Amino acid sequence: MTASQWFFSFLKKYRLNLITELILVTFSSVLTIVNPYISGIIVDDVIKGGHKELLLNLVLLLIITTVVRSIIRYMYLFIFEKTSQRMLCTMRDYVYRRFLEEDFTFYNKNRTGDLMSRQTGDMDAIRHFVAFVIYSIYENSLLFFIALVMIFTVDYHLALCMIAVMPLTVFITCKQLRAIKPAFHNIRKRFSSLNTAVQENVSGNRVVKAFAKENFEIEKFNRENDGYRDAELNAAAIWRKYIPIFEFLSSTLTFILYLVGGIMVVKGSISLGKLVTVSGYLWMLNNPLRMAGWLANDYQRFVTSVEKIHSTIKEEPVIKTPGKAVVHKRFKGEIEFKHVNYRAEDDVILTDINFRISPGQTVGIIGTTGSGKSTLMNLLCRFYDVTDGEITIDGINVKDMDLYCLRNNVGMAMQDVFLFSDTIEGNIAYGNPACTFEEVQEAAKIADADGFIQNMPEDYDTIVGERGMGLSGGQKQRISLARALLKNPSIVILDDTTSAVDTETEAHIQSQLNALANRTVFIIAHRISSIKDADVILVLNNGKILESGNHESLIAKKGYYYTVFNHQYGEFDKYIGARQKGGRYNG
Ligand code: ATP
Ligand code: MG
Repeated sequence: MTASQWFFSFLKKYRLNLITELILVTFSSVLTIVNPYISGIIVDDVIKGGHKELLLNLVLLLIITTVVRSIIRYMYLFIFEKTSQRMLCTMRDYVYRRFLEEDFTFYNKNRTGDLMSRQTGDMDAIRHFVAFVIYSIYENSLLFFIALVMIFTVDYHLALCMIAVMPLTVFITCKQLRAIKPAFHNIRKRFSSLNTAVQENVSGNRVVKAFAKENFEIEKFNRENDGYRDAELNAAAIWRKYIPIFEFLSSTLTFILYLVGGIMVVKGSISLGKLVTVSGYLWMLNNPLRMAGWLANDYQRFVTSVEKIHSTIKEEPVIKTPGKAVVHKRFKGEIEFKHVNYRAEDDVILTDINFRISPGQTVGIIGTTGSGKSTLMNLLCRFYDVTDGEITIDGINVKDMDLYCLRNNVGMAMQDVFLFSDTIEGNIAYGNPACTFEEVQEAAKIADADGFIQNMPEDYDTIVGERGMGLSGGQKQRISLARALLKNPSIVILDDTTSAVDTETEAHIQSQLNALANRTVFIIAHRISSIKDADVILVLNNGKILESGNHESLIAKKGYYYTVFNHQYGEFDKYIGARQKGGRYNG
């Protein structure tokens, strides 16, 4: 589907409104014939012919026509505005749904600021086109055509002289459209960058302050701001060259009329009244020419925006529910990775991963940073697809499963915690909004979050997230853990979820988690204490499973795990030893 087909698929839904609107525009345009025509009669028949009795009726007719035109104009302006807003609402909704359908790769590629621009500035250019440009192009073309026909009925010589400027107008309009296109593309690009700069600075405001980089960021923003201004000025420099040409062409019509028409009146080939009639139609020829440059601008702005939005969402997400998907309400939680390889672009991230987990087992994953622990879980949830091999849950390949059903069975507390601008209760109940308050509190108790929540100003009703109360790293992690547990999933993934809580709290959380039956739990951690009680421990290094087994067997192996254990617990022993001797730990 091309960008224009995509746009028309939305416009099509409002075709009845559009037809009604265009019929009203046609009525209004046809009525414009009346006033110049009557003006001609007033000059020829009333003023020159002496039929004074006609004047009142003719003026009355002028007033009635004007009132009727005004009413029709009000109606179609209102309907066009309404249609454009309704269409845009549908379009925004569609684009938003597409954003939500998109996979992680899409969000890795597109900046937040770009996506915000698609939903704001670009949508507004489309709204302006539907609300104003469509009827303006139609109305102006119609007025031009009607005026020409009317002038033809008065005198075809005069009409032909008027038409002479037409080919030049069409040629210049096409030239302007072509010239302005890259400039508008540049404007959209710059606008996206400006949005991104603002969004990143507002979101990363704490980092900016912590590093005292306000001046650097102001300079960076100024560059974006200047870039956007220059892009707009560059476009203006292009259309500025064309607008006076259209002005000149429209004035040429006035020169032609008074020169050719004047000679004809003097020679007596047309009456003065006819000349008044034709000059009454003159604005109907002038106005479209004057508007041509502006409408060409608005049209190109619209085309650019449609192309931008369409190119952002045209590619179907790679990861989606297959045609004949397997729908399982609840998994048992048996998980197997068979010869799984994962490459991102040309980087090898995971190599030949093989393991099998029985339902209800707890799996600990440990390894150096960047060894592929989070990626392993991202593949299980199908945030990315394996390059080779397969991952099965209860014997079914995750690629054959209904995506919603797969992810609904997984409760994930992600490494980078994100809380919505909502109450604590709303955040915990995010995956299961129909739950009772008691269930929210129960999940918070397991995550050892109930205590600190009760101490907050409005306990569970305290607003957190972007515009809410500040929370400590460990508090955020515990809310995120409670959120993952409240879904009552058959598979729980805790990615570095207790890294920011003290060991005592962690031990408490773990004893609570151990009490939960019928769940396969993955615990990713850097601390041995977080995973040593797991049924299976996977040690990852450089995208490969280096060792696996339980704590005892891995210690007995005296390999990597043993070294890490010694390092962590050895240091601890040294510290305790130093304290007992009353000395200071320097290790
Ligand atoms: P940490 O302990 O720091 O959380 P990790 O073991 O969870 O590390 P991953 O996040 O799985 O590490 O990343 C593993 C490697 O894969 C890293 O080198 C990372 O840069 C790379 N990587 C992860 N996702 C992508 C991606 N979408 N595109 C390219 N590279 C990626
Ligand atoms: Mg990670």
